[in-house]
Amino acid sequence: MVNSEKYEAVIGLEVHAQLNTNTKIFCGCDNQFGADANTHTCPVCLGLPGALPVLNEKAIEYAIKMGLATHCKIAPKSVFARKNYFYPDLPKGYQISQYDKPICENGWLDLATRRIRINRIHLEEDAGKSVHDESYVDQNASLIDLNRCGTPLIEIVSEPDIRQPEEAAEYMKKLRQILLYLGICDGNMEEGSLRCDANVSIRLTGDSEFGTKTELKNMNSFRNVERALTAEIERQIDVLETGGEVSQATLLWDAETNEIQVMRTKEEAHDYRYFPEPDLVPVLVSRETIDEIRANIPELPAQKVKRYQEAFSLPEYDAEVLTSDPDLANYFDAVVRLVDQPKIAGNWMMGEIMRYLNEKKLTISQFPLTAEKLAGLLKFIIDKQISGSAGKKVFEQMLQSGDDAGIIIEKLSLRQISDTAVLTDIIDTIITEHPEQVTEFRAGKEQILGFFVGQVMKASRGQANPKIVNE
Ligand code: ADP
Ligand code: ZN
Ligand code: MG
Repeated sequence: MVNSEKYEAVIGLEVHAQLNTNTKIFCGCDNQFGADANTHTCPVCLGLPGALPVLNEKAIEYAIKMGLATHCKIAPKSVFARKNYFYPDLPKGYQISQYDKPICENGWLDLATRRIRINRIHLEEDAGKSVHDESYVDQNASLIDLNRCGTPLIEIVSEPDIRQPEEAAEYMKKLRQILLYLGICDGNMEEGSLRCDANVSIRLTGDSEFGTKTELKNMNSFRNVERALTAEIERQIDVLETGGEVSQATLLWDAETNEIQVMRTKEEAHDYRYFPEPDLVPVLVSRETIDEIRANIPELPAQKVKRYQEAFSLPEYDAEVLTSDPDLANYFDAVVRLVDQPKIAGNWMMGEIMRYLNEKKLTISQFPLTAEKLAGLLKFIIDKQISGSAGKKVFEQMLQSGDDAGIIIEKLSLRQISDTAVLTDIIDTIITEHPEQVTEFRAGKEQILGFFVGQVMKASRGQANPKIVNE
């Protein structure tokens, strides 16, 4: 917590998410990250004179999906607008965006601490990228890659409802999670699929008016959003405490030095001269279309958390971890469908499986065992045919050989002995072989029971069911 008791921070985020449509928003070029520079371009996304944009219907559908998932109103009519500015990565000299008539408005997203209202979600196109390539002949040159031009983006604008840098990170995490569940954005922050501008001001705790805000540009990790905001709040507090005034500005935060640089001040603010895009008709969305899209929205993280707690009696923490990633949750759901023991399945997911994934730096979709294979193993444990610790051995072997649990259990003779007749035989032998201990036990030294159980386990090569042996 950076807020001294005296001040309170006010934060609003503008989050950009690239939509993973097959093609770009206004042309048929491939929408693909990482291709050779300038190989996915055409007259439309290069901004050549006379080329006309044609709207990608999927982009509209995806934006509506996000709107519905965040409780927004979907506008029956929305309008594209030109946002005019000059930059080398923007060959048209304007960005097609939405201005006063965005596709989604007035939604919300719940954090652990409070509800964050969403002012709007609008559609726009991404710009290209300037590249500084050390290996290029002219080291001072800036190169330009226009593959990213025309990548569909949604911009999700929050109301200034966030109060802590930690909450800003949590808000972004939740947005990312929803985008992944909807399957409309890959959420890869390192590649820039998800980026965030943060607006922040401070005020005396208890004041109802907002202070002057500054805007921090382009943070590309949860941690950096939190760090940058923390640094900027501290800076603003310092300004006020030394008798100064915060002035409106756009800032750049340096992740390496944690320093804040002024990019432009209020006087230098752009006037984008927005006007309705004359080359595109307004977007009309029918009630039926919205209903159809709504019907195709999968179970979302908040609903899943609730279901895991209520139907599966899982603790909130477990429910949160298991739903953190849609693929993880789907895997878990598949296992539970097969074994009907959410607690055991959850413990395995959060224990052995996540440990393995972390260690190997893999995601669940790269996990070598299918849900069916894991369920096969868990059934042996649930039916008490093998012990939990034998289960872990089998799990290791399954990962190495890919064999089914049953085959490995036979091979390693791990099947647990629960047959009381077999166990009684072993126990009788042990008792006969240890008359002294028997005498001690009879004399009241009851803790010696553990010794007998140990001997039985040893004699059975660990296969005896310890619970039954104890009984
Ligand atoms: P602008 O006109 O500068 O673009 P907006 O009102 O459109 O400002 O808001 C842009 C973002 O800044 C939103 O996310 C909003 O929540 C946030 N914001 C607005 N006012 C403040 C403030 N005083 N302090 C912090 N954030 C703010
Ligand atoms: Zn193109
Ligand atoms: Mg604005």
